[in-house]
Amino acid sequence: MIEAMDISITKTARSKLQDLELDNIPFGKYFTDHMLEADYKNGEWQNIQIKPYQPLLFEPSLSALHYGQAIFEGMKAYKDNNGDTFLFRPYDNFHRFNISAARMNMPEISEEIFIEGLRQLLKMDKSWIPPMRDHSLYIRPLMFATDTALGVKPSDTYKFMIILSPTGPYYAEPMKIAVEEKYTRAAPGGVGFAKNAGNYGGSMLAATVAREEGYDQVLWTDAFEHKWLQEVGMMNVFFVINGIVITPTLDDGCILAGVTRSSAITLLKEMGLVVEERKIHIDELLEAYKRGLLEETFGTGTAATIALICELKYKDHIMRFSLDRWKIAPALRKSITDIREGTRDDKYGWMVKV
Ligand SMILES: *Cc1c(COP(=O)(O)O)cnc(C)c1O
Repeated sequence: MIEAMDISITKTARSKLQDLELDNIPFGKYFTDHMLEADYKNGEWQNIQIKPYQPLLFEPSLSALHYGQAIFEGMKAYKDNNGDTFLFRPYDNFHRFNISAARMNMPEISEEIFIEGLRQLLKMDKSWIPPMRDHSLYIRPLMFATDTALGVKPSDTYKFMIILSPTGPYYAEPMKIAVEEKYTRAAPGGVGFAKNAGNYGGSMLAATVAREEGYDQVLWTDAFEHKWLQEVGMMNVFFVINGIVITPTLDDGCILAGVTRSSAITLLKEMGLVVEERKIHIDELLEAYKRGLLEETFGTGTAATIALICELKYKDHIMRFSLDRWKIAPALRKSITDIREGTRDDKYGWMVKV
């Protein structure tokens, strides 16, 4: 642990916390009193500061706005019964952030700034972590290009930030999902495995079209045939076919390697299930459904943890599921929740005390 890192700290004159009812808050709308900022200049990170949450001032020529070097992360902090603060697998998010940075030709961030900076920020704003069950503090680290010139080239300067947003329980209603046949999220050699801003910009239209047809999200498919299944929105996807759990492989770099996905695989195996990470074709799913073997289907991600899928549409095939008989997804959700709440042994050391 690095204690000596030079962070300049400016405290807010007045906390906004008293203005807010923490037990009834929409996701991602309110931010805590402080934020962390660091600047990359002359080949190194400098000017590390924690200061009151406030707007940024930039020229319109800001490189990130034009050429899209912008990445982010999403993770959560929880408070236990003793008032201690915990993070869930933060080093996984830190490593993934640098994988995204490398792909987007951006500088890596150090563990001192990402992890220790986050610890210090959380210590200052820990009263913002709602103590209620299922509540948490959503953590959004981000980095973007800050050169102010219109030449198309990797920026020489960047800003790294961490902002924090208290969030209530994300009671995900079971989702209705349309298998995407027209638009593409990611192709081999592309940026699908990175959490970069453009991936989300590029996916909005498909999600909007799906919503107009009564679906919550699309299930992305491969760029060539639109038949090999990838992932859903900000969630990885799992299918249970005849007792075997299948999730698309990360091999071709088209899928975001979710921390929840990885935790799910570990816990499902611990439950004695066979988990296959492999390519999965829409026809395999349809065939299994027809034969009554497609038992469960769910998404995994930090926001909802485990989100059940109650309907899948592909062309004019509609696959509907009766969730009340499902065992695996609910058991998995309970395991993860219990580890987070400290009622189940954290044998993999996923919970990191701040
Ligand atoms: C963030 C994200 C996920 C889920 O990752 P977690 O680490 O589990 O939150 C899955 N797919 C995409 C595209 C994402 O951006």
